[in-house]
Amino acid sequence: MNTDASTTPRALATEAVHAGREDLAALGVHSVPLDLSTTYPSYDSRAEAARIDAFATTGARPEGPPVYARLDNPTTARFEDGLARLEGAESAVAFASGMAALSAVLLARASAGLRHVVAVRPLYGCSDHLLNAGLLGTEVTFVEPDGIADAIRPDTGLVMVETPANPTLAEVDIRAVARSCGQVPLLVDNTFATPVLQRPLEQGAAIVLHSATKYLGGHGDVLGGVVACDEEFARTLRQVRFATGGVLHPLAGYLLLRGLSTLPVRMRAQSATAAELARRLAADPRIARVHYPKLGGAMVAFEVYGDPHAVIAGVRLITPAVSLGSVDSLIQHPASISHRIVAEGDRRSAGVGDRLLRMSAGLEDVEDLWRDLCEALSAAGAARPVSLPASASVPRPAHGRDAGARPQRSAAR
Ligand SMILES: *Cc1c(COP(=O)(O)O)cnc(C)c1O
Repeated sequence: MNTDASTTPRALATEAVHAGREDLAALGVHSVPLDLSTTYPSYDSRAEAARIDAFATTGARPEGPPVYARLDNPTTARFEDGLARLEGAESAVAFASGMAALSAVLLARASAGLRHVVAVRPLYGCSDHLLNAGLLGTEVTFVEPDGIADAIRPDTGLVMVETPANPTLAEVDIRAVARSCGQVPLLVDNTFATPVLQRPLEQGAAIVLHSATKYLGGHGDVLGGVVACDEEFARTLRQVRFATGGVLHPLAGYLLLRGLSTLPVRMRAQSATAAELARRLAADPRIARVHYPKLGGAMVAFEVYGDPHAVIAGVRLITPAVSLGSVDSLIQHPASISHRIVAEGDRRSAGVGDRLLRMSAGLEDVEDLWRDLCEALSAAGAARPVSLPASASVPRPAHGRDAGARPQRSAAR
């Protein structure tokens, strides 16, 4: 092993701005070149044939020009290298979305005859749906974490968990789960924690999946997915991606690499805000229950006594929208949107109740966010069902934008 400065492990914050860009100075550029080519000219068709054969037999990144953009792209490859470094993985393979990434993992395992998946709920609604509907010919057994070992069969190709989970922020012990997987690869959806807070591969997971659309991109303007894993599985994933076509657009790869640069500072700042909001919500009589991970993070979920739809209708600064991980705050009602596609009974038993709201804390000032949330919560009515003074149930004034003029309720302190 080489031990010179170029291979000495660097801190995550340093990798975030340098990984995948080490050659830029030698190229004589400072920002990352964006290669939008769909095809790559060559006067040497024998060499092209050799590159295609090599890719078809190994799945390794093509040496030299990628022939066609569905095989590989140099800009996207930089994002893959950067994310792999942050996750402490040998390799990473990027896809058009988080769902395309999960589909490729399932297809890769199913093509080896391993069609059975063991999974722990809750999962992101569409991941749950993809598994439960068997759209890709896979079969799923949903279990609690302590039921994983018993659920594994000879044809089990994957164990899947999300931690903290979307939308309840439930956490699983990755090390314990990895032990109960035996030889079956454990996939951890690390979208909510990001490698800033949690590196599942160091805890025994074999595969890390991200909806890069969320924190990795970080600005709500790029859809993408990525799988971090060993090079052997990455080769299979590249072949699946080539054959099924779920490639990431190079501009998305460019934006995601840019997103990685600020990931550590965004996560730290947004997590501090979410933790403070969780603390205030926990003390608020309008809130029945707050979900905030022990691990930390920039997501907070809470159950209201009042009407959750009125909270969504009542926010003015926070954007009422699905998705998460952007620099601005978003809030949504999982039972109506992100987890709508999951059958009601499955949703409920996974802890996704009708009064649950999920908020993604952005980079706004925490006092401004709290004021907006308080206004919206007041519009939603009910507080803790204790002996409230009669005045507490008097209708609130119509919701307006003059939030600053309204006195704080005692409950909001
Ligand atoms: C959004 C999300 C996905 C799906 O990713 P897309 O980029 O929307 O396809 C998967 N897992 C989690 C935890 C998510 O939040």
